[in-house]
Amino acid sequence: MNIILLGPPGAGKGTQAAYLCKEYAIPHISTGDMFRAAVKAGTRLGLTAKSYMDRGDLVPDDVTIGIVGERLSEPDTQNGFLLDGFPRTIPQAEALQAVLLRIGKDLTAVVNIEVPEEELVTRLTGRLVCMACGATYHRVLNPSPLRDFCGVCNGPLITRADDAEATVRSRLEVYRKQTEPLISYYQSIGKLENINGLLPIDEVTALLRSVLTE
Ligand code: ADP
Ligand code: AMP
Repeated sequence: MNIILLGPPGAGKGTQAAYLCKEYAIPHISTGDMFRAAVKAGTRLGLTAKSYMDRGDLVPDDVTIGIVGERLSEPDTQNGFLLDGFPRTIPQAEALQAVLLRIGKDLTAVVNIEVPEEELVTRLTGRLVCMACGATYHRVLNPSPLRDFCGVCNGPLITRADDAEATVRSRLEVYRKQTEPLISYYQSIGKLENINGLLPIDEVTALLRSVLTE
């Protein structure tokens, strides 16, 4: 199962990826997580990525395409993968097609999770993530059973710096300009499925399951 989860920041891609990757036993490839890990480790990639992430801009295509190309050649992608947050531009989508051709794979489905903009602002400004394991919660919409600590690993929950409202607004603008055109791109190659991301988390998971196994 080779899946892309498409959708604006806050649509629920990471939340749904956690369930689907466990269920289908495939790796969750999140470029945002890869960049955040590089920032934390203080690598050169992290230093480059941080300046863009802090402003809510996209990391340049050549850098992003390079790390995904390498990740997709790792052996754990043999039985499939789920891409979350990649591709985010048309050149990234075209580069991905070239990589898939080279490694003899094709996309099973590209699922676009649709959520209106004001709901995205509410979701992102209330999002909490576990510093230790990366699990995602929301202060009100999806609270941890342990409040300020992770229900999975007990780690401390934090607010991502780029979830401040001003940065959220610029990230949504960047999404509209650079990423939304991917919806037509994947529609034109017959891969796109749209689902309603406004439903409760478990109902979105059920919709995804039915789209992926149809
Ligand atoms: P993305 O990975 O697309 O940026 P996340 O999965 O991190 O989005 O979700 C953004 C926020 O919205 C998180 O706080 C999460 O708990 C919450 N959330 C995700 N899906 C839903 C949903 N269906 N209903 C309500 N809140 C949700
Ligand atoms: P995310 O965790 O998907 O919300 O991504 C957080 C940030 O990482 C984005 O705002 C970008 O700065 C950067 N990023 C993640 N994925 C990509 C990508 N595919 N292309 C460029 N930048 C990315």
